[in-house]
Amino acid sequence: MPTATEPAMRDATGHHRLSTDTDNGMLLIISGPSGVGKTTITRGVERSIADSVFSVSCTTRAKTPADVEGVDYHFVTDEEFERMKAQDAFLEHAGVYGKKYGTPREWVVEQLKRGRLVILEIDVQGAAQVKARIPDAFAIFILPPSEQELLHRLEARKREDGDLIRKRFAQAKAEIDAARAGSVYDRFIVNRDLPEAIREAVDEVLAARRRKSAGPR
Ligand code: 5GP
Repeated sequence: MPTATEPAMRDATGHHRLSTDTDNGMLLIISGPSGVGKTTITRGVERSIADSVFSVSCTTRAKTPADVEGVDYHFVTDEEFERMKAQDAFLEHAGVYGKKYGTPREWVVEQLKRGRLVILEIDVQGAAQVKARIPDAFAIFILPPSEQELLHRLEARKREDGDLIRKRFAQAKAEIDAARAGSVYDRFIVNRDLPEAIREAVDEVLAARRRKSAGPR
């Protein structure tokens, strides 16, 4: 439903089209397989860029002791998620590891209108949806130094048992292949060293932002 902050514009598929052409803000997508250090890099970028904000997703997955409601995620029931989906309240949504994840659209639009850098930490399916709607979103994919190193990191987290680690590893490889095969990602950053990867991401984002503000309007 259109709101006061968003004109009712729809694209050919009937989806809401965002009026980002007239906004100063920019969307940053950060994706990568689990265990690659993606969350640390995302939070590092958020800390390094003054007017950046992290988009808190809705999810139906269970809250863990490490999660803070409203900071890491909005934890919702399946019914709530489906209701939001029916109301077209998500900019994108996807099923990941059998659970549902979605980016609240209105909040993102509002932040873009304020000229902010809005950071979405989302998976490959979600990134493709966002890029289709907002082509000038900047998308970064974080890679492990090697497959062997990724397996080591998944094992070192001691978060899952052997079976689940192998499953996550297979999913991670599939996600990397999908990211490489598609045209969604603007940059691939290899996380050999965390501070270096954060610096690289920040430099890329600032350069993309300069290009965007210098480009045709
Ligand atoms: P986790 O449950 O481990 O925090 O996240 C699992 C995966 O879901 C990660 O790859 C994360 O990037 C992705 N994810 C988190 N929020 C969203 C979202 O709003 N949309 C999509 N498409 N993926 C998300």
